[in-house]
Amino acid sequence: MTRTIYAELGVRPVINAAGTLTRLGGAIMPPEVVEAMARAAEHCVRIEELQARAGELIAEATGAESGYVTCGAAAGLLLSTAACVAGLDIGKMERLPDTSGMKNEVIIQRPHRNSYDHAVRAVGVKVVEVGWMGSPTPHPVQAWEIEAAINERTAAIYWPVMEAAEGKTVGLEGTVAVAHKRGVPVIVDASAALPPTTNLRAFVAAGADLVAFSGGKALRGPQASGLLAGRRDLIQSVALQHQDMDVHPATWSLRAQLLEAGLLPGPPLQGIGRSLKVGKEEIVGLLTALRLFVARDEAAEQAMWLAQVHTLVETMLTVPGVQADIEANAQGIPLARVTWDESALGIQGSELVNALADGDPPIGVGGDGAGGTITINPFSLAPGQAEVVAHRLRELLQR
Ligand SMILES: *Cc1c(COP(=O)(O)O)cnc(C)c1O
Repeated sequence: MTRTIYAELGVRPVINAAGTLTRLGGAIMPPEVVEAMARAAEHCVRIEELQARAGELIAEATGAESGYVTCGAAAGLLLSTAACVAGLDIGKMERLPDTSGMKNEVIIQRPHRNSYDHAVRAVGVKVVEVGWMGSPTPHPVQAWEIEAAINERTAAIYWPVMEAAEGKTVGLEGTVAVAHKRGVPVIVDASAALPPTTNLRAFVAAGADLVAFSGGKALRGPQASGLLAGRRDLIQSVALQHQDMDVHPATWSLRAQLLEAGLLPGPPLQGIGRSLKVGKEEIVGLLTALRLFVARDEAAEQAMWLAQVHTLVETMLTVPGVQADIEANAQGIPLARVTWDESALGIQGSELVNALADGDPPIGVGGDGAGGTITINPFSLAPGQAEVVAHRLRELLQR
């Protein structure tokens, strides 16, 4: 095995059997993406021109009016919220995250609250939670509850794709219907909602105004990339609050389009999104990854994943006291679920997870081991790594 660049730094590369977890470095980029990024680094380019072309390609792939490359889905949510609050008002852009006097409320159905909604709150908006989930009788959130929360200060409704919220929340179509009746945009967090490939278009088709995807998860793009697909006017606001604005009105490249046309009184100052910079390398890398993702052979990919989880399950079934089977996650990726009797085998779930993480090589798996269960996700496993994981698990679980 060739020495990795991490070994040169004295850092241990991890076998990632947990999928596309950001804290383990996300997905592995295909060589074509790596090469595209290297080629992008060879020349300078006007970022606004590159982003405009990216927007056309993202629009083609998603069916949206427009698109934009961000430095992640979380960044996409922050930029989307900023766009819904400020629109094309450069005075409002300048004041964010102070939203006093603006449309500064974002409605979230209670089961949709999740730790990534901090990206929405970072714009200075107030979250308005709707839905009663407590005792004595919890009931699914109703469309009227969303409608009752809409007022003149409502900037947007945040709707994350969350398996755990299904059946407890108003679906995307229902949410869009209520929102659009009152002129409120809907922001969809589809960060981890790929595959299936059809989801690239599904949320746009359902009427979402802005949809954020991660570039560094299933798309296998640069780890610090993401894409937004959505309404042209909102994407325009995103661009103005994101791109570098160290410009002069008389020489700004967008002066004809935005100043002379009377749309803006001047260029905006550096916006709330300026700290979420995305480079030409990430933009080109993400576009390459998107092209490869749409064209990939899904059947071959499934077959490879299945072979890897079969290897794991078969090995684990040879260990007394261990059960193993295959299940599919919400993205249709087959996972190996490994379960054991913690007291009979004398190893607690968290002990096993920690022993894997602290071993050589370190191995990351799904779950914290609670109840004597972990899952193995083959998405980020290189050829041969399923065997390494299986051996190590057998070593740790064999009494
Ligand atoms: C991973 C994730 C994010 C963040 O995506 P990044 O591309 O890492 O910024 C946001 N929302 C959900 C639901 C996620 O799973």
